[in-house]
Amino acid sequence: MTNQQSNNPVQNVVIVGGGTAGWITAAAFSRVLVPQGYNVTLIESDAIGTVGVGEATIPPIRDFHRMLGINEADFVKETQATFKLGIEFNGWSNPESRYFHPFGEYGRKLDSVQFHQYWQRASSLTDCGELSDFSLCSVAAYQGKFAPTSQDPESILSGIGYAYHFDASRYARFLRSYSEQRGVRRVEGKVVDVLQNANNGFIEGVQLESSDVIKGDFFIDCTGFAALLISKTLNVEYEDWSDLLPADSAVAVQCKKSSTPIRPYTQTFAQDGGWRWRIPLQHRTGNGFVYSSKFTSDEDAVSTLLAGLDGEPLSEPRKLKFRTGKRQQSWSHNCVAVGLSAGFLEPLESTSIHLIQTAVIRLLSMFPGKEFEPAQIQEYNQQVNDEVAFIRDFIILHYHLNDRPEPLWTYCREMSIPDSLAQKISLFKSRGHVVEAQYDLFKTASWVAVMRGQGVHPSYYDPMAESKPEKQLLGIMQELKAAYQRASEAMPAHDEFIAQHCQAA
Ligand code: FAD
Repeated sequence: MTNQQSNNPVQNVVIVGGGTAGWITAAAFSRVLVPQGYNVTLIESDAIGTVGVGEATIPPIRDFHRMLGINEADFVKETQATFKLGIEFNGWSNPESRYFHPFGEYGRKLDSVQFHQYWQRASSLTDCGELSDFSLCSVAAYQGKFAPTSQDPESILSGIGYAYHFDASRYARFLRSYSEQRGVRRVEGKVVDVLQNANNGFIEGVQLESSDVIKGDFFIDCTGFAALLISKTLNVEYEDWSDLLPADSAVAVQCKKSSTPIRPYTQTFAQDGGWRWRIPLQHRTGNGFVYSSKFTSDEDAVSTLLAGLDGEPLSEPRKLKFRTGKRQQSWSHNCVAVGLSAGFLEPLESTSIHLIQTAVIRLLSMFPGKEFEPAQIQEYNQQVNDEVAFIRDFIILHYHLNDRPEPLWTYCREMSIPDSLAQKISLFKSRGHVVEAQYDLFKTASWVAVMRGQGVHPSYYDPMAESKPEKQLLGIMQELKAAYQRASEAMPAHDEFIAQHCQAA
């Protein structure tokens, strides 16, 4: 069968790499391209293996799964997933501080004024509780509860936002099975050479160690940090952001599941030289320490990691090295880099898997037609740049606004930051103002949570928050706070929810 555009130059699509990026790409292509007659082949090397540590996600993953038609209960069961209502940040602003970045909104929409502005006004009048008391995700997270988002806009549960923690290798296997069932061909083997057209440099095929050649019209580079096609073959440069995001290393280890109920959120702990993560899965807990080798030795990093475990380690810690930044262009010639080959910011806000998913959706919406059009390629690259720049600023915010004494944190506090972020901080400082931009993945609640959590307290609130009479405003606040408490108490415990809804699939 051939695809519908008979003179379409793209008939054979080759994905090189079978980590999370490769199999997410294959799954989406099997859903959208294979039914149209495209041939999709994925090549992966068992000998090389995958990074395999990306286990925490953010809410848009649910939209991606919906597009694939994935059943949530099947997915949770197969990948030993747990639900994630947000991220806890311990010690980030100063060693004693703690805050929660919730995945849902704060409060509810009262009118065009942002809720946190009303909260700030109410707080100036009386002690009406913490802002986090007005987030159902925060309240439920700390009670160990979980319920899915309600589709009924009138329900208080419509304010729940959630994502997942999952076992990365099981996720890749799950998507592999999905993709192969839908017609993706998997080839095992190590790519040792890339064949290019002598005139225009376009990639024509890849040669495996076995001498087999896999030919294609369009190549997706999912080879991770190796960036075999986009960098080693097409020589697209890497934009290094290590001045702004100085982490360049991580050590990671899995632990036996601890006996405490499974937390429905990720924990992070800022420490001397970096930060630790703790990611609870059904069958084990993922732990890692992300650090900058300029400020911490590998030996100290391992000690910091092991000192912070809450269960027995299942193996020796695994060391990973990376360079924060992004590829100057993700799409060059007939090749698109997806995943770590396109860049890596760092794992703090769990954005890498999300960037893979948006890359694939964007690529499908700009899929080459009769030819590879420079305008489409430029637009694709521009959108990637815009999207990544917003995420970069959001992550820098966590590092920059700190009052910690150690050298890494002093460096981050004193480093110069992008003007775009400086402007965001100034706006928030003056009157808590957050402007939502088109390509900014993180919406108002996220910026408010992290700004406040990192110690930015606006000097005043939006004057429009004066529009409600004092008594009415305080009444609304009291009612809402009580409603969130009641709603959370009525939810099932997180473990119970998994056992009841996701094990019998
Ligand atoms: P890889 O997993 O490295 O896969 C590369 C693939 O290419 C493999 O299949 C390999 O066999 C193949 N390959 C390479 N060279 C060849 C060759 N010559 N021939 C054939 N095949 C080849 N992301 C999140 O969203 N959430 C997180 O919590 C998170 N935590 C992270 C923590 C750390 C410390 C790091 C480093 C990353 C983290 N990430 C996280 C990022 C996430 O792990 C990656 O985005 C994701 O795993 C995708 O990786 P990948 O598929 O691009 O690369």
